Amino acid sequence: MENYDAIVVGAGITGAAIAYELQNQGQRVLLLEKHRQPVNATTFSYGGIIYWAGTTPLQRQLCHESRYRWTHLSQELGGETEYRELELLLYLRPEDDPRALAQQFNHCLIRPQQVDRLTAIAIEPQLNPDGIGGAFVVPQGHVHGGKTVNAYLQAFLRLGGIVRIAEVEGLITKRNRVQGVHSGEGNFFAHKVILASGGQSRTLLTSQGVNLPLYFTHAALLQTAPTKENLRCVIMPADLQQRPNLEALAPTLDWHHPNDHCVATVLEPGAVQFFDGRLFIGQISQLVTSPHYRPDLAWAQQQLQTAIANILPRIARLPLTAHHCLVAFSGKPLPLVGEIPHLSGLVLFTGFTHPLVYVPPLAQKLAQHLTIGREWVIDHLAAQLNSLQTEK
Ligand SMILES: Cc1cc2nc3c(=O)[nH]c(=O)nc-3n(C[C@H](O)[C@H](O)[C@H](O)COP(=O)(O)OP(=O)(O)OC[C@H]3O[C@@H](n4cnc5c(N)ncnc54)[C@H](O)[C@@H]3O)c2cc1C
Repeated sequence: MENYDAIVVGAGITGAAIAYELQNQGQRVLLLEKHRQPVNATTFSYGGIIYWAGTTPLQRQLCHESRYRWTHLSQELGGETEYRELELLLYLRPEDDPRALAQQFNHCLIRPQQVDRLTAIAIEPQLNPDGIGGAFVVPQGHVHGGKTVNAYLQAFLRLGGIVRIAEVEGLITKRNRVQGVHSGEGNFFAHKVILASGGQSRTLLTSQGVNLPLYFTHAALLQTAPTKENLRCVIMPADLQQRPNLEALAPTLDWHHPNDHCVATVLEPGAVQFFDGRLFIGQISQLVTSPHYRPDLAWAQQQLQTAIANILPRIARLPLTAHHCLVAFSGKPLPLVGEIPHLSGLVLFTGFTHPLVYVPPLAQKLAQHLTIGREWVIDHLAAQLNSLQTEK
């Protein structure tokens, strides 16, 4: 019988970070990931670290800590994250009202600055002068999601952590205590099981009768091969309310009877370039309750290509491939972190809306909380978790 201090489910950014931090605290950790080559939300992430966007005192504190942590993370892990500072350019469409959209930044730690159309084009020459009416710009952090996971995992393995390719099929519980997991590779036991399985955390939770506001969207995006076209900034539409508006519909849906009906779709034409010259172009988010739904990728490609042609015409002409992944969200300003009420031994580390800014500092705090002693930030998040409606 294999016995560990902690089992972490999922090797996206959340799972890789918490597995490393726990192992770094001297725990014996098993990380279970169902895919040998993960095709997950982290792999397709733009890599933006929005440390400018914190609005509450806690978010602002975490934003400061995140910026510091990212600056040193590559060195600590002994692996490349491709961390750098990059301009985020939030473009206005000609018909947008800049004054109305500026209000969404009112309480941000660093307010994006409004620039006119010509200045926006000077900052990012790829922009179509006829497709935009100006922009907001703000510096933010930037990493490569897949490489960051790899850096965390390599450091985890060097510390003696164990990774197994196995799909967790269910939790082993005894008298309201989680003792381990069932998987295709057998049963594994641990004092704590940490759910960090992104959009699929919901399925494992509901199989235990736990009902929390943890949902997912289906995202479709495009990728290019490495190209000589040069994009200087991260490009996104300025209206950042579209996705929160879509997410706000989630609690009204019947997630207990999932189906393939698409309730709402948001199209956010944007792009980012990584060090190797590859471009990611996104993104279409669809609210569909079945995790098994597969969007029509030919349709998604046509929609995205048409939309991006209006903003970044040269980039829209490059050969593109379309991809799909699930993206978890909780609809709360802060993620679902902490032990599940009524089920001791089960810890959540999921439901992040902007994981790249919050995961590194929170993974460190959660690992300390579970080993050395209480961390008030984790106590605060666990209290939020407790206050959410749960059903047994
Ligand atoms: C196009 C796009 C752009 C984005 N840009 C940004 C951005 O700029 N900044 C930002 O902060 N966020 C961004 N995001 C969101 C971010 O990428 C995700 O929220 C984040 O990567 C989720 O990480 P995760 O670890 O929770 O989940 P995932 O990365 O999805 O990882 C979950 C892992 O768990 C595994 N798993 C699931 N179920 C099981 C099981 N039963 N057994 C074993 N393994 C299992 C999966 O195989 C997967 O590898 C973006 C998302 C998309 C799609």
